[in-house]
Amino acid sequence: SPKFVIDGLKATIENKEILKGINLEIKGGEVHAIMGPNGTGKSTLASAIMGHPKYEVTEGTATLNGVDLLEMEVDERARAGVFLAMQYPSEITGVTNADFLRSAINAKREEGDEISLIKFIRKMEGKMGELEMNPEFMHRYLNEGFSGGEKKRNEILQMAMLDPSVVILDEVDSGLDIDALKIVADGVNNMRSEERGFLIITHYQRLLDYITPDFVHVMMQGRIVKSGGPELAERLESEGYDWIKEELGIED
Ligand code: ADP
Ligand code: MG
Ligand code: MG
Repeated sequence: SPKFVIDGLKATIENKEILKGINLEIKGGEVHAIMGPNGTGKSTLASAIMGHPKYEVTEGTATLNGVDLLEMEVDERARAGVFLAMQYPSEITGVTNADFLRSAINAKREEGDEISLIKFIRKMEGKMGELEMNPEFMHRYLNEGFSGGEKKRNEILQMAMLDPSVVILDEVDSGLDIDALKIVADGVNNMRSEERGFLIITHYQRLLDYITPDFVHVMMQGRIVKSGGPELAERLESEGYDWIKEELGIED
């Protein structure tokens, strides 16, 4: 079962230090949530792991089964088994959902061992059926003209098709109505297994009503300042973040 370890990760944006030493260990089967006020570095963490060019990692490692992802090219990180679902998925004109997924799946496989078109279509149809997606989405251009809920559902489809070892969801709940939220949550819950770990980044506790995390971490000013179980998320929902600031003597 996989093990994902972030160790002493520091990152800057335009020479400003945003991540000030993040430590986190996620084993297969575990769901971790990171919560925190806006502007605290949560998205920076996700982007730094995936290798977004705006973010410079200045110290630390992020290893999957002992191999440092930060040493890899961006596309290699996905192939190594890391999946990132973002707050605002991008639209890609001219590339259909099916094209995109088939090349992503084949990129993970050895040359000469590509998935056959028939097998791929069967698999995609099966997963789309489970997610109650309209079959026409197979041939729609990626995310183009998709509603917020359709984009999220499509990301869950991508996750199910790619079978990653680590899943990072960055505020996938933002702007979702309750039905779309439940689809996302069901998709995640159905994919919980010993073969996969989850990192769920969220500003609000709402998503965690549907996906019960094993661990909850609070991030403030670029550090994880407190960790606990699901009860920590509930307390943050009812009391906000001020009590943590007071407890730790953090000033705004
Ligand atoms: P969160 O996801 O917790 O809301 P972010 O990681 O998005 O926080 O942002 C952390 C800090 O980095 C904020 O102060 C934000 O203004 C700054 N920041 C984020 N992205 C950029 C960027 N592309 N250029 C400059 N500053 C940025
Ligand atoms: Mg934000
Ligand atoms: Mg963010």
